[in-house]
Amino acid sequence: ASFEGLGLAEWLVRTCRELGMKKPTPVQQGCVSQILAGKDVFGLAQTGSGKTAAFALPILQKLAENPYGVYALVLTPTRELAFQISDQFKALGSGMNLRNTVVIGGMDMTAQAKALMQRPHVVIATPGRMRDHLTNDPDIAAVFARTKFLVLDEADRLLEVGFEQEIRVVLENLPSTRQTLLFSATMTSNLQALHELSMEKAFFYQA
Ligand code: AMP
Repeated sequence: ASFEGLGLAEWLVRTCRELGMKKPTPVQQGCVSQILAGKDVFGLAQTGSGKTAAFALPILQKLAENPYGVYALVLTPTRELAFQISDQFKALGSGMNLRNTVVIGGMDMTAQAKALMQRPHVVIATPGRMRDHLTNDPDIAAVFARTKFLVLDEADRLLEVGFEQEIRVVLENLPSTRQTLLFSATMTSNLQALHELSMEKAFFYQA
């Protein structure tokens, strides 16, 4: 298996090589071409499996083709994970002028609001703070009117820590035509309860 074989563009394959990623991990082999084909994906994958690149690579490829508004929103349960995901987007997106922003609790709302109004390509957020921005300011909600990708990273943990209500508000502010990518270490009943995600037709990946 190779990154080329998954349908990734040459500039991304080159970046992978430069980052020492010699071949795709199983979750990347399973999910990248499905995401490129436009499918929703429900992936059961642990941290360390390469799941971040499994969603970041196809998102970067698609947004490089036709960037508009905030192209992708990634929700993750902790600030540490948000920064790690941001770092991976930066590294994998080094071949383009990628602009991304981290939106997490405990940091200045005004500076974050300003950054969001610049319409970064990718926003990586914790759910509570993202909800606050969307409900406080209709101009910020408008920035997400054409968002193409929603990623729920570590979805089991997202729901464990009780973010369900915040996630609902975020979902209400995204177009229903978006592509949804959900990654979770375990399959929990909480996840199945999130009917708003309407992932019945998603490609299901399991190692
Ligand atoms: P993650 O599961 O997304 O937290 O990724 C774990 C680590 O694996 C990260 O530091 C990535 O940079 C690295 N990684 C992701 N994909 C590959 C790959 N195909 N080959 C080698 N390392 C990788």
